[in-house]
Amino acid sequence: MSSSSSRQSLQPHIALFPTAGMGHLTPFLRVAAMLASYNVTVTVITAQPTLSAAESDTIASFFAIHPQIKRLDFHIVPYNSPTPDDPFFIHWEATNRSLHLLHPLISTSSPPLTAIFSDFGLATNMIPIADRLQIPTFILLTTSARFLSVMANYPFPELSDTDANHIQIPGLTNIPKSSIPPQLLRPDKSIFASTLASTVSSFSKVKGILLNSFEYFESETIIAFNNGQVQPGFPPVLPIGPIAPYGLVQGDHPLPWLNDQPAKSVVYISFGSRTAMSKDQIRALGDGLDRSGHRFLWVLKGNKVDKEDKEALDELLSNSFLERTKNKGIVVKGWVSQEDILQHPAVGGFVSHCGWNSVTEAALHGVPMLAWPLNGDQRINAGVVEKSGLGLWEREWGWAGEKLINEQEIAEKVKVIMEDEILRAKASNVGKEARKAVGKDGGSEKVLAQVINSLNPKG
Ligand code: UDP
Ligand code: UDP
Repeated sequence: MSSSSSRQSLQPHIALFPTAGMGHLTPFLRVAAMLASYNVTVTVITAQPTLSAAESDTIASFFAIHPQIKRLDFHIVPYNSPTPDDPFFIHWEATNRSLHLLHPLISTSSPPLTAIFSDFGLATNMIPIADRLQIPTFILLTTSARFLSVMANYPFPELSDTDANHIQIPGLTNIPKSSIPPQLLRPDKSIFASTLASTVSSFSKVKGILLNSFEYFESETIIAFNNGQVQPGFPPVLPIGPIAPYGLVQGDHPLPWLNDQPAKSVVYISFGSRTAMSKDQIRALGDGLDRSGHRFLWVLKGNKVDKEDKEALDELLSNSFLERTKNKGIVVKGWVSQEDILQHPAVGGFVSHCGWNSVTEAALHGVPMLAWPLNGDQRINAGVVEKSGLGLWEREWGWAGEKLINEQEIAEKVKVIMEDEILRAKASNVGKEARKAVGKDGGSEKVLAQVINSLNPKG
C-alpha cells in the first residue's frame, strides 16, 4: 500500500442516511458538511425519488457546493399503502422495505465505511447492515431530547388506563397526555407508530444518539438520559447542536424587503416545510397579524406536499387583505431561506409550529418564539421552548384543526413576543448559550470531536 493510500485509510468514512422530509434532510446535510470540515470522508445516501421538490432542489444544490462529499442515490421500490397515511411516512415505509438492497452498494465503499449515521426511522433495518460491515450505527436524531424520552417509553403502559392524564418518564417530569402525538394514542397503528414501536428495541443496539440540541437547552433531559435514569442500558445521548447551516443561499427573495425594515420590527411566520392550515385559520391568522400592528413576513403553504400546492395567494387570502397590508407585510408562497431570515436584524419574533429544526434555528439566533405546535412531536418541542425561556406557548390552542384560533387571540400573542422586553432578554440569552455550545471548545463542539476521534480506524 502506498503511503498516501494508507494515510487515507486512517480517515473515518461515515455514511449518513435521512428519511423523507426537509425536517430530516436538513440536519443530515448540515452534519455531513460539518464532518467534511473535520476532514472526514462522507457519503450521503438519499432515497430516490424524493417526495417533495424542496428535497430534490436542496440535494442538487448541496452536492454542487460540496463536491468532496460522496453522493449515493438509493432507488426505492414504490410502496402502495393499503390504508391512508401521511405521504412522508409512506415514503419512510417504502425506504425501509427497500433497505435490504443497500448492503451491496456500500460494502465496497472506498475507503471502507467506519460508521453509519442513521435516521431513527431507518435504524431498525440499518443496524443489521452495519453489523455485517462490522461498523457502529449512530442515530442522528431530528427531534428534541424531550421527545426522545417519549419515544424511549413507547408504548406507554400507563395510557392503557384510560383515566391517565400523564405519562411518567423515569427521572423526568411527567408528560401530559395532551402533548403526546395523537397517532401514538390510537389503537390502529399508523406507519409512524409502528416505526416507533420497532425503533424502541433498536436504541440499545446503537453506539450513540446524536442530538441536535445543547446541554443548556435541555439539560434536565440530557443529564437524566446519561445518568441511566430514563432507561438503564440506554446508549449515550450526544448533544452536538444547534447544528449549523452549511451556507446554502436558497430562495432569498424576501431579503431585499427585510433590508428596508427597522431593527427587530418584523414578525416572521412559518409552519415549516409540510404543514398547511385550514383556509379559515389562514384568514384569521392574516387578520391577527394585521391587528397586531406589527410588520410581518409570512410564508404560507396551502398543501402538505409542495408539488401539490398550486393555489395562488389570492385564492388563500382576500384581495382586500393583501391590499390593506401591502405596506407593512409580505406573504410568500414558496421556499425561503429561513436561516437567512432568522439571523436578519429586522426580525424580532417568530411564530412557529415548533418543528425541531425551526426551534434550534431560532435558539441559535435568540429569536423570541410564539410556539403554535400542530402535529407530531411539536407540543413536546413547544414545552422545551417555553421552559428554556426562548418563547411562549398557548396550550389551549390545541392540535391542528381542533379549534379555530381567532384574530384577537393571535394579535395579542404576537404583540407579546414582539414587545415583551423580558422575553426578548431571555431568548437572547438562549442564543448566547447556543453559540457558546457550538463555538470553539463549546460543549457541542467537543462532543462532535470526540465522536469523530472514536471513529478513527485503527491503522
Ligand atoms: N425551511 C426553509 N424554508 C421554508 C420552509 C422551511 O428554509 O420555506 C427549513 C427550516 O429552516 C427548517 C426545515 O426547513 O430547517 C423544516 O424543518 P422543521 O423541523 O422546522 O419542520 P418540518 O418542515 O419538518 O415540519
Ligand atoms: N404528523 C407528524 N409530524 C408532522 C406532520 C404530521 O407526526 O410534522 C402526523 C400527524 O400528527 C398526523 C399525521 O402525521 O397523525 C397526518 O398529518 P396531517 O396533518 O396530514 O393530518 P390529517 O390531515 O391526515 O388528519
